Amino acid sequence: MSNAIVRLQKILALEKKQGYRNKSVIGGLERLGDRWQSDASKQATTQAQMALVSQIVSELKRYPTLETVPERQAMVGNLLAYADQWENAGKQESSGRIDAIQGEKPAEQESPVEQTARPSRPTEASEKIEARPQRVSSPPPHSIQPSRPTPVDAETLNTPVDRLPGVGPGYSTRLEKMGITTIGDLLWLPPRRYVDYNTLKPIYQLQYGEEITILANLWDLKKRKLSGGNRTLVTGVLGDSTATIQATWFNPYIDRQLRVGQTYLFSGKVDSYLGSLVLRNPNWEELDREFIHAGRIVPIYPLTKGISARWMRNLQKQVVENWGRNLHDHLPASVRNRAGLLPLGEALEQVHFPASQDMLKAGRRRLAFDELFLIQIGVLRQRSEWRSYPTQRYSLQENHRQAFEETLPFQFTSAQGRVSEAIGGDLNSGHPMSRLLQGDVGSGKTAVAAYAMWTAVTNGAQAAMMAPTEILAEQHYHGLRNFFEKLRLDERPVQVALLTGSLGSVEKAETLKALAAGEIDIAIGTHALIQEGVEFKNLGLAVIDEQHRFGVRQRASLRQKGAPDSNGSDSDHSGVPHLLVMSATPIPRTLSLTVFGDLDVSVIDEMPPGRQPIKTRWLPPAERERAYKFVRRQVREGHQAFIIYPLVEESEKLDAGAAVPQYEYLKSEIFPKSRLGLLHGRMKGGDKEAVMQAMQLGEIDVLVATSVVEVGIDIPNATVIIIEDAERFGLAQLHQFRGRVGRGEHPSYCILLSGATTPNAAERLRALEQSNDGFALAEKDLQLRGPGDFFGTRQSGLPDLRLAQLSDLRTLEQARAEASRLLEEDPDLAAAEHLALARRTKQFWQGEGDIS
Ligand code: ADP
Ligand code: MG
Repeated sequence: MSNAIVRLQKILALEKKQGYRNKSVIGGLERLGDRWQSDASKQATTQAQMALVSQIVSELKRYPTLETVPERQAMVGNLLAYADQWENAGKQESSGRIDAIQGEKPAEQESPVEQTARPSRPTEASEKIEARPQRVSSPPPHSIQPSRPTPVDAETLNTPVDRLPGVGPGYSTRLEKMGITTIGDLLWLPPRRYVDYNTLKPIYQLQYGEEITILANLWDLKKRKLSGGNRTLVTGVLGDSTATIQATWFNPYIDRQLRVGQTYLFSGKVDSYLGSLVLRNPNWEELDREFIHAGRIVPIYPLTKGISARWMRNLQKQVVENWGRNLHDHLPASVRNRAGLLPLGEALEQVHFPASQDMLKAGRRRLAFDELFLIQIGVLRQRSEWRSYPTQRYSLQENHRQAFEETLPFQFTSAQGRVSEAIGGDLNSGHPMSRLLQGDVGSGKTAVAAYAMWTAVTNGAQAAMMAPTEILAEQHYHGLRNFFEKLRLDERPVQVALLTGSLGSVEKAETLKALAAGEIDIAIGTHALIQEGVEFKNLGLAVIDEQHRFGVRQRASLRQKGAPDSNGSDSDHSGVPHLLVMSATPIPRTLSLTVFGDLDVSVIDEMPPGRQPIKTRWLPPAERERAYKFVRRQVREGHQAFIIYPLVEESEKLDAGAAVPQYEYLKSEIFPKSRLGLLHGRMKGGDKEAVMQAMQLGEIDVLVATSVVEVGIDIPNATVIIIEDAERFGLAQLHQFRGRVGRGEHPSYCILLSGATTPNAAERLRALEQSNDGFALAEKDLQLRGPGDFFGTRQSGLPDLRLAQLSDLRTLEQARAEASRLLEEDPDLAAAEHLALARRTKQFWQGEGDIS
């Protein structure tokens, strides 16, 4: 018996005798803890004893916080029970020494179900892996790390998983189903969650529902077939010095893995069966090697059919030890130190097999920082790359400025003025502009875009404006053509053309020819603008409207249209075009730093005068008739209305309203005296345009539509919008819908019809009732839905984020600051110590467009 334990037992006996007054040692039991720990640790010879020591110390620390005698009595009882377990925990001393080299243990019997992947014997497969690092002993958490083997190069991350010992064709197919094909995929597969099995308890203290670890002897193990099925139930009796408990497994091979008479750690949740406590399917761990499945913070990985939790954990342990831990760190030490981050290998190790909750946090923070940092390196390099290209300088002559102001039917708000000035400065700076113009719905971005385009065309260049939908492109086309018709370029009219996918082929060929010849000054269109075969004579400015619909990649493509040698035609531009992107969906700062991190940002934070906030009400479907009555009244007063449905046609699967059948019903039954229009995404381009034009001209009173009206459509006379099944839409999208009204000087209304029952949906609808502030709503939306949904699937053009939270503004700003500092020192990441980072950035952004 260790003398530290004997001393502890004596002190505890004294404490008991003195009536639990915490006077048995000077300074109290909590003080004993520190001194005692170092003695006891020296006497510990196994992992299990180490675990006992830390458990005892943490209880000692807690002792003075217990206020009643019974509580203290219970804890002393606990501590004595631990002390009793000391001997047991020291068994298997010969092979269980802390410094024992794991790999030298004889391989254990492996069952077909739970093949362990631990490479205890080098197999043929393992020898094939090149650059396979030497195995090192896996040190327990408290020991000093041995010197590390040569770092693993990042290239080896691409090693296929089937090269791992224990991963045959069957397992690699199953892993592939989970999107895992390489060692790198495994390392960057963070656990879904963790269970903290650090709490070691004597059996007699177990309580129903707790997640615990016990150190127990396997007294008995019985196997029996269950009647009926072909399932086998294995029942074990586990005992320590305080009590026994039953454990059950459905794994028929468990008796090949556990031996009666041996002591193990068992971790699991305490359940009950017929009135007594049981452990169902507990994880277990032998005492003589590093804990993976029990007695620690245990990682819980995503799994698939045919992959057991134990198998996956063993595999990950092997990968982390052999590859992760020794992975070369691509992050320069200077960055790591300033940001207070763990080295990569350690972070990976802690995220998979945390030594403590704090280390887990530190590990996750490092990996999250990494992702954000790599994004920043990518976007900032993109930004400086654009900036380094030659471009044309445009400035607006005074006479042209006057003509513009006289033609505009209103005066710029001061925000519009400020932003236009910034754009004017960009256009005349000698560097290509890359600017994001943000402004809430209706803040007047189009007029600012017109100002920028006017500046370009008065300097002899062409301008292009890309919109996400045909309807919006057409609307811009009509509006801008009307506007520019009134302006003159050297006495000739400004030529504005439309280019969309539904243009007839003859018309399209003519437009393309005129564009290439420079006969068109301003081209407005959809994605058609960035397609193959579209050439500009001298594209000087590209404007992208409603940017949140486009990713990083499309942004680059439009600009590429004007870049040198992109088409090799007879274009006479010199340099790349300026780029202005606009978004009506106010983008939370975290997103504008990432998805739009390559852009400068301007905000129009002021509405044109006379706007009134839109009154928003959420009504249950039962009050639909009230909403219709309200629409009738507005129409009688000469205004127009929108009614939005989530679907085009009725669907068997979704219980949601559809525009087409509802349109018929509304026309005949609800609004027989009004003029109704129908608009949805499956209509032909020309038909859509005709409907929009009729709406604009006031020939339609009530427009029944799907989400195609979401972006940008401008009907100042529309004063009410009803949104059916509103809970089906995201917050940002609902705010966009709502922005279809309230664009003139009349009071406007938004009615959300919804029988929403989930708290999340209710929260969204209530947020809309309470706020007209697009920025606040966007933040909320990001919070409620996450960045993926915020953009729609994969539209952001960002690499997948596994650990980083886009809501973590602090880490993001830190990552941005560090990335920009590093790029200032070494813009091309050409220095020897940055090569690994350059490679990692490329790998990270692979397949994500033009950023590298
Ligand atoms: P968005 O920013 O949503 O694209 P628009 O550019 O479509 O907004 O402008 C919304 C409406 O406000 C349009 O009818 C436009 O003519 C009008 N508008 C824009 N700027 C002003 C202004 N400074 N004063 C008055 N009306 C304006
Ligand atoms: Mg707009």
